[in-house]
Amino acid sequence: MSRAIGGEPSGLVPADVPVIDFRQVGLTYPGPPPVAALSPCDLRIGRGEFVTVVGPSGSGKSTFLNIAGLLDAPTHGSYLLDGIDTGALKDGDRTALRGRRIGFVFQSFHLLPHRSALENVTLAMVYNGYRRRDRGPAAREALERVGLGHRVDALPTRLSGGERQRVAIARALVARPSLLLCDEPTGNLDSANAATVLQLLDELHADGMTVLVITHDADVAVRGDRTVAIRDGHLREQAAV
Ligand code: ADP
Repeated sequence: MSRAIGGEPSGLVPADVPVIDFRQVGLTYPGPPPVAALSPCDLRIGRGEFVTVVGPSGSGKSTFLNIAGLLDAPTHGSYLLDGIDTGALKDGDRTALRGRRIGFVFQSFHLLPHRSALENVTLAMVYNGYRRRDRGPAAREALERVGLGHRVDALPTRLSGGERQRVAIARALVARPSLLLCDEPTGNLDSANAATVLQLLDELHADGMTVLVITHDADVAVRGDRTVAIRDGHLREQAAV
Protein backbone atom coordinates (compact mmCIF):
# COMPACT_ATOMS: atom_id res chain seq x y z
CA MET A 1 0.00 0.00 0.00
CA SER A 2 2.69 2.50 1.01
CA ARG A 3 4.66 1.65 -2.08
CA ALA A 4 1.65 2.15 -4.35
CA ILE A 5 0.75 5.53 -2.89
CA GLY A 6 4.22 6.92 -2.39
CA GLY A 7 5.78 5.33 -5.40
CA GLU A 8 3.27 6.14 -8.10
CA PRO A 9 4.90 8.76 -10.31
CA SER A 10 3.33 12.20 -9.84
CA GLY A 11 3.53 12.62 -13.63
CA LEU A 12 0.64 10.16 -13.97
CA VAL A 13 -1.79 12.43 -12.13
CA PRO A 14 -4.20 14.11 -14.61
CA ALA A 15 -3.24 17.74 -15.23
CA ASP A 16 -6.62 19.07 -14.09
CA VAL A 17 -6.34 17.51 -10.62
CA PRO A 18 -5.05 20.23 -8.25
CA VAL A 19 -1.79 19.51 -6.49
CA ILE A 20 -3.21 21.04 -3.30
CA ASP A 21 -6.91 21.00 -2.59
CA PHE A 22 -7.90 22.27 0.87
CA ARG A 23 -11.58 21.80 1.63
CA GLN A 24 -12.39 23.73 4.79
CA VAL A 25 -9.01 22.75 6.21
CA GLY A 26 -8.25 24.17 9.63
CA LEU A 27 -6.24 23.41 12.72
CA THR A 28 -7.11 24.23 16.31
CA TYR A 29 -4.61 23.39 19.02
CA PRO A 30 -6.60 21.91 21.89
CA GLY A 31 -5.09 24.06 24.64
CA PRO A 32 -6.38 25.02 27.10
CA PRO A 33 -7.18 27.53 25.88
CA PRO A 34 -7.80 26.28 22.33
CA VAL A 35 -5.90 28.23 19.64
CA ALA A 36 -7.38 28.42 16.14
CA ALA A 37 -3.99 28.56 14.39
CA LEU A 38 -5.63 28.09 10.98
CA SER A 39 -9.33 28.82 10.54
CA PRO A 40 -11.14 26.49 8.12
CA CYS A 41 -10.25 27.57 4.58
CA ASP A 42 -10.49 26.46 0.96
CA LEU A 43 -7.43 26.64 -1.28
CA ARG A 44 -6.66 25.04 -4.61
CA ILE A 45 -3.23 25.14 -6.18
CA GLY A 46 -3.12 23.78 -9.71
CA ARG A 47 -0.28 21.96 -11.41
CA GLY A 48 2.45 24.32 -12.51
CA GLU A 49 1.38 27.28 -10.41
CA PHE A 50 3.80 29.43 -8.41
CA VAL A 51 2.02 30.57 -5.26
CA THR A 52 3.45 32.64 -2.43
CA VAL A 53 2.08 32.71 1.10
CA VAL A 54 2.72 35.81 3.20
CA GLY A 55 1.88 36.81 6.73
CA PRO A 56 3.44 38.33 9.83
CA SER A 57 4.98 36.26 12.60
CA GLY A 58 2.36 34.30 14.53
CA SER A 59 -0.19 34.52 11.72
CA GLY A 60 -0.29 30.78 11.02
CA LYS A 61 2.29 30.33 8.24
CA SER A 62 4.07 27.40 9.93
CA THR A 63 0.74 25.77 10.70
CA PHE A 64 -0.20 26.09 7.03
CA LEU A 65 3.20 24.76 5.91
CA ASN A 66 3.01 21.80 8.27
CA ILE A 67 -0.43 20.83 6.99
CA ALA A 68 0.40 21.38 3.30
CA GLY A 69 3.64 19.40 3.78
CA LEU A 70 1.83 16.49 5.50
CA LEU A 71 3.85 17.08 8.66
CA ASP A 72 0.68 17.79 10.69
CA ALA A 73 -2.88 16.63 10.13
CA PRO A 74 -5.63 19.27 10.19
CA THR A 75 -8.30 19.11 12.87
CA HIS A 76 -10.98 20.26 10.38
CA GLY A 77 -11.79 19.56 6.76
CA SER A 78 -10.09 17.44 4.09
CA TYR A 79 -6.79 17.90 2.34
CA LEU A 80 -6.38 16.27 -1.07
CA LEU A 81 -2.83 16.12 -2.42
CA ASP A 82 -2.71 15.11 -6.10
CA GLY A 83 -6.33 14.01 -5.64
CA ILE A 84 -5.49 11.69 -2.74
CA ASP A 85 -7.51 12.28 0.43
CA THR A 86 -4.69 12.49 2.96
CA GLY A 87 -7.04 12.24 5.95
CA ALA A 88 -7.78 8.63 5.08
CA LEU A 89 -4.13 7.52 5.06
CA LYS A 90 -2.29 5.48 7.65
CA ASP A 91 0.91 7.02 9.02
CA GLY A 92 3.19 4.96 6.77
CA ASP A 93 1.24 5.95 3.68
CA ARG A 94 1.33 9.64 4.63
CA THR A 95 5.10 9.41 5.07
CA ALA A 96 5.48 7.67 1.71
CA LEU A 97 3.26 10.23 0.01
CA ARG A 98 5.23 13.09 1.55
CA GLY A 99 8.55 11.57 0.51
CA ARG A 100 7.44 11.02 -3.06
CA ARG A 101 5.28 14.06 -3.79
CA ILE A 102 6.76 16.92 -1.77
CA GLY A 103 10.24 18.41 -1.99
CA PHE A 104 11.05 20.62 0.99
CA VAL A 105 13.38 23.62 0.95
CA PHE A 106 14.10 25.30 4.29
CA GLN A 107 15.59 28.63 5.27
CA SER A 108 18.65 27.00 6.83
CA PHE A 109 19.40 24.47 4.06
CA HIS A 110 19.73 21.45 6.42
CA LEU A 111 22.69 19.97 4.57
CA LEU A 112 25.01 17.41 6.15
CA PRO A 113 28.23 19.43 6.63
CA HIS A 114 30.72 16.58 6.17
CA ARG A 115 29.12 15.19 3.03
CA SER A 116 29.65 16.47 -0.49
CA ALA A 117 26.90 18.11 -2.51
CA LEU A 118 26.47 14.84 -4.42
CA GLU A 119 26.26 12.77 -1.22
CA ASN A 120 23.74 15.17 0.28
CA VAL A 121 21.45 14.69 -2.69
CA THR A 122 22.10 10.95 -3.02
CA LEU A 123 21.41 10.24 0.65
CA ALA A 124 18.00 11.88 0.35
CA MET A 125 17.05 9.22 -2.18
CA VAL A 126 17.53 6.27 0.14
CA TYR A 127 13.92 6.52 1.36
CA ASN A 128 12.33 7.27 -1.97
CA GLY A 129 12.34 3.82 -3.48
CA TYR A 130 15.21 4.47 -5.92
CA ARG A 131 17.44 1.55 -6.72
CA ARG A 132 20.96 2.07 -5.44
CA ARG A 133 22.52 2.18 -8.89
CA ASP A 134 20.11 4.89 -10.08
CA ARG A 135 20.79 7.26 -7.19
CA GLY A 136 24.16 8.68 -8.27
CA PRO A 137 23.13 9.53 -11.85
CA ALA A 138 19.82 11.06 -10.70
CA ALA A 139 21.60 13.15 -8.05
CA ARG A 140 24.14 14.37 -10.60
CA GLU A 141 21.34 15.32 -13.00
CA ALA A 142 19.53 17.26 -10.25
CA LEU A 143 22.74 19.13 -9.36
CA GLU A 144 23.28 19.95 -13.03
CA ARG A 145 19.71 21.23 -13.18
CA VAL A 146 20.44 23.77 -10.42
CA GLY A 147 23.69 24.85 -12.09
CA LEU A 148 26.08 22.98 -9.79
CA GLY A 149 27.29 20.21 -12.11
CA HIS A 150 30.84 21.49 -11.61
CA ARG A 151 30.65 21.45 -7.78
CA VAL A 152 29.26 17.99 -7.06
CA ASP A 153 32.25 17.02 -4.89
CA ALA A 154 32.31 20.23 -2.84
CA LEU A 155 31.50 20.18 0.86
CA PRO A 156 28.77 22.62 1.92
CA THR A 157 31.37 24.65 3.86
CA ARG A 158 33.10 25.40 0.54
CA LEU A 159 29.92 26.66 -1.08
CA SER A 160 28.29 30.08 -0.91
CA GLY A 161 24.90 30.41 0.78
CA GLY A 162 23.18 30.56 -2.59
CA GLU A 163 25.00 27.42 -3.76
CA ARG A 164 24.05 25.60 -0.55
CA GLN A 165 20.44 26.46 -1.10
CA ARG A 166 20.73 25.24 -4.69
CA VAL A 167 22.06 21.90 -3.37
CA ALA A 168 19.03 21.78 -1.06
CA ILE A 169 16.77 22.49 -4.06
CA ALA A 170 18.48 19.69 -6.03
CA ARG A 171 17.85 17.37 -3.07
CA ALA A 172 14.19 18.44 -3.01
CA LEU A 173 13.80 17.87 -6.77
CA VAL A 174 15.55 14.55 -7.12
CA ALA A 175 12.48 12.41 -6.37
CA ARG A 176 10.55 14.37 -9.03
CA PRO A 177 7.93 15.65 -6.58
CA SER A 178 4.60 17.22 -7.50
CA LEU A 179 5.25 20.18 -5.24
CA LEU A 180 8.29 22.20 -4.22
CA LEU A 181 7.44 23.57 -0.77
CA CYS A 182 9.82 26.33 0.28
CA ASP A 183 9.89 27.90 3.74
CA GLU A 184 11.66 31.29 3.64
CA PRO A 185 14.10 29.98 1.02
CA THR A 186 16.06 33.24 0.87
CA GLY A 187 15.80 34.12 4.56
CA ASN A 188 19.48 33.36 5.26
CA LEU A 189 20.88 34.82 2.05
CA ASP A 190 22.31 38.18 1.04
CA SER A 191 20.60 39.87 -1.86
CA ALA A 192 22.95 38.56 -4.58
CA ASN A 193 22.59 34.95 -3.43
CA ALA A 194 18.85 35.39 -2.90
CA ALA A 195 18.57 36.60 -6.50
CA THR A 196 20.19 33.40 -7.86
CA VAL A 197 17.85 31.21 -5.80
CA LEU A 198 14.74 33.16 -6.87
CA GLN A 199 15.91 32.99 -10.48
CA LEU A 200 16.18 29.21 -10.14
CA LEU A 201 12.67 28.97 -8.67
CA ASP A 202 11.40 31.02 -11.64
CA GLU A 203 13.13 28.63 -14.05
CA LEU A 204 11.71 25.55 -12.33
CA HIS A 205 8.27 27.11 -12.50
CA ALA A 206 8.77 27.86 -16.19
CA ASP A 207 9.63 24.15 -16.63
CA GLY A 208 6.25 23.22 -15.11
CA MET A 209 7.08 22.64 -11.43
CA THR A 210 4.44 23.60 -8.88
CA VAL A 211 6.11 25.95 -6.42
CA LEU A 212 4.77 27.12 -3.06
CA VAL A 213 6.89 29.67 -1.19
CA ILE A 214 6.16 30.82 2.34
CA THR A 215 7.76 34.15 3.11
CA HIS A 216 7.42 37.39 5.00
CA ASP A 217 9.50 39.20 2.36
CA ALA A 218 7.36 41.31 0.03
CA ASP A 219 10.03 41.16 -2.71
CA VAL A 220 9.82 37.37 -2.69
CA ALA A 221 6.02 37.36 -2.47
CA VAL A 222 5.63 39.24 -5.76
CA ARG A 223 7.43 36.47 -7.64
CA GLY A 224 4.35 34.25 -7.43
CA ASP A 225 1.52 34.07 -9.99
CA ARG A 226 -0.74 34.31 -6.96
CA THR A 227 -0.24 35.42 -3.40
CA VAL A 228 -2.21 34.14 -0.46
CA ALA A 229 -2.13 36.13 2.77
CA ILE A 230 -2.53 34.69 6.24
CA ARG A 231 -3.49 36.96 9.10
CA ASP A 232 -4.57 35.79 12.55
CA GLY A 233 -5.12 32.30 11.15
CA HIS A 234 -7.33 33.49 8.29
CA LEU A 235 -6.16 32.68 4.80
CA ARG A 236 -7.18 34.99 1.97
CA GLU A 237 -6.33 35.24 -1.69
CA GLN A 238 -4.62 38.58 -2.33
CA ALA A 239 -5.88 40.66 -5.22
CA ALA A 240 -3.35 41.00 -8.03
CA VAL A 241 -1.70 44.43 -8.17
P1 ADP B 1 3.82 31.75 12.05
O1 ADP B 1 4.52 30.59 11.43
O2 ADP B 1 3.12 32.63 11.08
O3 ADP B 1 4.73 32.53 12.96
P2 ADP B 1 2.40 29.71 13.60
O4 ADP B 1 1.69 28.87 12.61
O5 ADP B 1 3.66 29.17 14.19
O6 ADP B 1 2.63 31.16 13.01
O7 ADP B 1 1.39 29.99 14.82
C1 ADP B 1 0.03 30.40 14.63
C2 ADP B 1 -0.64 30.53 16.01
O8 ADP B 1 -0.73 29.26 16.63
C3 ADP B 1 0.14 31.42 16.98
O9 ADP B 1 -0.81 32.13 17.75
C4 ADP B 1 0.90 30.42 17.82
O10 ADP B 1 1.14 30.96 19.11
C5 ADP B 1 -0.08 29.25 17.89
N1 ADP B 1 0.60 27.95 18.05
C6 ADP B 1 1.58 27.44 17.28
N2 ADP B 1 1.93 26.20 17.70
C7 ADP B 1 1.15 25.93 18.78
C8 ADP B 1 1.00 24.80 19.67
N3 ADP B 1 1.75 23.69 19.53
N4 ADP B 1 0.09 24.89 20.66
C9 ADP B 1 -0.69 25.98 20.81
N5 ADP B 1 -0.62 27.07 20.00
C10 ADP B 1 0.28 27.06 19.01
